[in-house]
Amino acid sequence: MFLYGFFDREGRNIYHARLMFARPFIDSVDFARNGKEMRGEIAVLALSRLADVLAKSGGLLTYIIRGYREEGRDMLEVSLQGECTLRCQRCLGELDFPVNLISRLWLLPADKLDEAEENDEMDAIEAEPRLDVLALIEEELLLSFPLAPRHQEGECVPATGGLQQKASPFAVLAGLKK
Ligand SMILES: [Zn+2]
Repeated sequence: MFLYGFFDREGRNIYHARLMFARPFIDSVDFARNGKEMRGEIAVLALSRLADVLAKSGGLLTYIIRGYREEGRDMLEVSLQGECTLRCQRCLGELDFPVNLISRLWLLPADKLDEAEENDEMDAIEAEPRLDVLALIEEELLLSFPLAPRHQEGECVPATGGLQQKASPFAVLAGLKK
């Protein structure tokens, strides 16, 4: 009995580990032509390319990848919702950034991508038979971030840390007298 329990528990651990680290891949053109859809949640932590940009790596994002056809084109729609914490470029404090994006991408063979870029009417990506969904989400999210994220004027966190974080009433008065 004891042995059985041991194995059972170990089995479950492995199962969870697989769930957490599984990277979903899709056959992109098949996805578009058959109107397939995939939805799920990903930990912001799993998007390692974002690590340099984020002030915090906690939180979850909800994603939906939907394939469809439009005017003879194979298309993918990427929807992402959630929140990321960026770093303000003025005060280096945390800056909540709501994620609510929808990208519609034209699936094209690699040798046709340049053509589409010149056209500029539509964003295009390579029609990979084994498209890395997390990499795609990472890319779209990075593109949606502001180049220099900043708090609204006057909402920056004072740079002085620790005890001086809250301005004392005396300091405020001194400031007023100037
Ligand atoms: Zn700021």
